[in-house]
Amino acid sequence: MALSQEITLPNGIKYEQPLGLFINNEFVKGVDGKTFETVNPHDEKVITSVHEATEKDVDIAVKAAREALDGPWKKLIPTERGRLLTKLADLFEEHKDIIAGIDTLDNGKATPFSKGDVQNASYCLRYYGGWCDKILGQTIDTDPNSLNYTIHEPIGVVGQIIPWNFPMLMWSWKIGPAIATGNTVVLKTAEQTPLSALYVATLIKKAGFPPGVINIISGLGRVAGAAMSAHMDIDKIAFTGSTLVGRQILQAAAKSNLKKVTLELGGKSPNIVFPDADLENAISWINFGIYFNHGQCCCAGSRVLVHEAIYEKFLEAFKARANKNKVGDPFAEGTFQGPQVSQLQFDRIMGYIEDGKKAGARVITGGERQGTTGYYIKPTIFADVTGEMKIVQEEIFGPVCTIQKFKDEEEAIKLANATTYGLAAGIHTKDLNTTIRVANAIKAGTVWVNQYNNTHYQTPFGGYKESGIGRELGQYALENYTQVKAVRIYLGNSPFG
Ligand code: NAD
Repeated sequence: MALSQEITLPNGIKYEQPLGLFINNEFVKGVDGKTFETVNPHDEKVITSVHEATEKDVDIAVKAAREALDGPWKKLIPTERGRLLTKLADLFEEHKDIIAGIDTLDNGKATPFSKGDVQNASYCLRYYGGWCDKILGQTIDTDPNSLNYTIHEPIGVVGQIIPWNFPMLMWSWKIGPAIATGNTVVLKTAEQTPLSALYVATLIKKAGFPPGVINIISGLGRVAGAAMSAHMDIDKIAFTGSTLVGRQILQAAAKSNLKKVTLELGGKSPNIVFPDADLENAISWINFGIYFNHGQCCCAGSRVLVHEAIYEKFLEAFKARANKNKVGDPFAEGTFQGPQVSQLQFDRIMGYIEDGKKAGARVITGGERQGTTGYYIKPTIFADVTGEMKIVQEEIFGPVCTIQKFKDEEEAIKLANATTYGLAAGIHTKDLNTTIRVANAIKAGTVWVNQYNNTHYQTPFGGYKESGIGRELGQYALENYTQVKAVRIYLGNSPFG
């Protein structure tokens, strides 16, 4: 199979799509000669096939990353690393229409949102470009005879495994801080969405990164992903995806070289509406909170908790709002919600919808697929749910939310914290004291107030409880990619003893 192919996107843009594994700044075929297909979720047709990395290719990519780490990358001054990241950010912007078009084709996200992802990925790279020459240690005064200082050194060769829901954002959230702190990278994309990352690999070379610093491979989780997690020469794995796989990665790290692991996992986040909230505004955010990206957000506000005084009024208004979301072809003007990413995800979500109906939850709207082709599911609202139902406890990762009633603040907090997850939460109220009390009481890594799903590259993001380990974004992410060395120098003249 060829290493690239010309593709014409449905919006008329023509471009050359790389298909190989990007190792040492070159596209190569996999050693075992394997390939896999990637499917357009809008029409269920195969777009193309890409070369598949197996264990041997992971070895080759890790070797390239190790040589770069010990070679040219180490010699580059931090400010030059910053220049490279900034240049890459510029190239993301220059190529925005193509990159966004690829994600709309491969992932199914509507054009304005794939463009937004690329813009935010560019900002994220630019932001971390600024950090490169600001990685600071400390001096610590212990006594007059000592000089103590710390150095924040790169961890080394970092393996990064990303999901399909935000192919470019996840790419930048991982690459930005890893490169800023001087690591080298082997990044594996999700098998559902390999194309945009291969296209931006061409930009890595164009930006001037030395060979081997950023290697991008397409591969299956249970093959290439598992090989990375168990690899003896990968010093750290940064993972975003399901809690199930997160556990497997921790186990593989424990059984191999005890590599450092950071995990960005699932969620079942509460979005709480107090009776004094500006209802129209709250409903707009709650609608965005669950249906943005077709519900395929780890932080999706999938459990809406509404005060009993406004419950029925809320249901009516929210139903009307959800029914206004335009579901359809992601390349079409005005589309808000495209198809789910794959047949597998579609089937999982429909399974949850059936389960909710059987358990006796009331379908307020949706509850079925849209059309007969493409993985489209109507925005779905379940009311009259109870805490034990599967649709209330488990991450659905689709356009499905549940509405629960609460009588007072105490009950709202109890319900909000009643899952094994702790990624995010939303509070809608005009009362400052309620805001602060509830924000303090919720066990989640992010609390949004009078807004939702509004992540920002400057602020940390990550999970409490089973939603993860470590924080991405902001200054906090730098800690994930550095190790601290303490140097203690004896300054005195007295002989030891
Ligand atoms: P997943 O966890 O299986 O896949 C995510 C990434 O992990 C992909 O790159 C995949 O190739 C890789 N992977 C899979 N198995 C692996 C293994 N054994 N070792 C190493 N890497 C492996 O997620 P999925 O199957 O695509 O989606 C399933 C569920 O995961 C979703 O329904 C959702 O609940 C959750 N999810 C969460 C996020 C998030 O942002 N937190 C993103 C995607 C999926």
